Amino acid sequence: MKVMIINAGSSSIKYQLIRMPSEAVVCQGIVERIGAKDAIFTYKTDTTEINKTMEIKNHRDGLESIAKLLVDPKIGVLKNAGEIDAVGHRVVHGGNSFSETTIIDQKVKDKIDELIALAPLHNPHNLEGIVLSEKIFTHARQIAVFDTAFHHTIPSKAKRYAMPHTFYEEHGIQVYGFHGISHQYVTDRAIEYIKKPESKIVTVHLGNGCSMTAVVNGKSVDHSLGFTPSNGLIMGTRSGDIDHAIIFYLVDNLGYSLSEVKTLLTKESGMLGLTGHIDLRDIQSGAEKGDKDCILALEMNAYRIKKYIGSYAAAMNGVDAIVFTAGIGENSSILRAMVCSQMEFLGLELDTKKNDARSAQIREINTPTSKVKILVVPTNEELEIAKEAYSVLNTGY
Ligand code: ADP
Repeated sequence: MKVMIINAGSSSIKYQLIRMPSEAVVCQGIVERIGAKDAIFTYKTDTTEINKTMEIKNHRDGLESIAKLLVDPKIGVLKNAGEIDAVGHRVVHGGNSFSETTIIDQKVKDKIDELIALAPLHNPHNLEGIVLSEKIFTHARQIAVFDTAFHHTIPSKAKRYAMPHTFYEEHGIQVYGFHGISHQYVTDRAIEYIKKPESKIVTVHLGNGCSMTAVVNGKSVDHSLGFTPSNGLIMGTRSGDIDHAIIFYLVDNLGYSLSEVKTLLTKESGMLGLTGHIDLRDIQSGAEKGDKDCILALEMNAYRIKKYIGSYAAAMNGVDAIVFTAGIGENSSILRAMVCSQMEFLGLELDTKKNDARSAQIREINTPTSKVKILVVPTNEELEIAKEAYSVLNTGY
């Protein structure tokens, strides 16, 4: 079975064609800076690699360019688009409606549309990807894999906010949790690695968006993002946890409109707000040169992660493994070292040499005497989506 994976974001489409169940990646790539004259288009197979700058007007243009290359007589990997059996879509918010991967029909699309109110930065693009894909890959089953689904196991005591019950019962105000596809994938890999299905794990996903999950016996029991992907850790442009009274203060005393507050906290805060840079590599090199803002931002970032590790260890009554993943988690030995320093009370001991070594494989970076494993697990959301799509089509639910 050939499964096309589509991860449509605000200005990018990541894609992969995966053969299942062998998990062989037939081709992969990304269209970035959609809407720009100098959009970046990449396409990679075993024998071909294309990196080009071209105008991509919109998502339709992007997806059509991908589909065209897939069937290109010279460098394509398919005779025709009908060879694709399923298209698996990453959908950020499934609300309370979707606790499982789901075959898409009109009702599912309507529900994803309704949920735009809860994920305005993500669900519209995910839905657009689905609608376009139905038109381009007409023979394929369209499958939605939700970032929130992994967190459906979070118990009430962790998912409810201390507000009157009607806000939960009538308006669905609760912790939903996000990055679930990644947390699920690295959890499964970590459990395989430590060979302990009955385990307590903290997964730390640090990309542009950042989140942490407390996982008991493979199930999410608490998570740092909440009703929307806004709170918890310090992210690229999002503030993470703040005292919500700051919002009232900005509006009542500093003359901000609500939409300006939203922009401030979601697009202009986080590491960008603290340093002027989004990319952690720029912040790390700033810190190395003695830039005080960069040093403080790294300290704040690591400190926040450390606090969540402590709270999840308390919530789970222990921890067997801490798992770092995503762009920053997999690559920033500096941040990992800051997070794992002075954590001996937990039995956590980082091996600095192993931490500094680079690899694209799952790896253990703790000392032999560490009571807690510290793992770096490269995430693979595309493979997780392919596995989910394959499983749904085979079991038929
Ligand atoms: P997204 O949330 O967009 O999927 P990624 O998981 O790809 O994000 O992470 C992107 C971030 O990873 C970049 O903004 C950058 O800060 C960070 N990153 C990538 N490579 C490195 C590296 N070698 N060292 C430190 N940080 C890195």
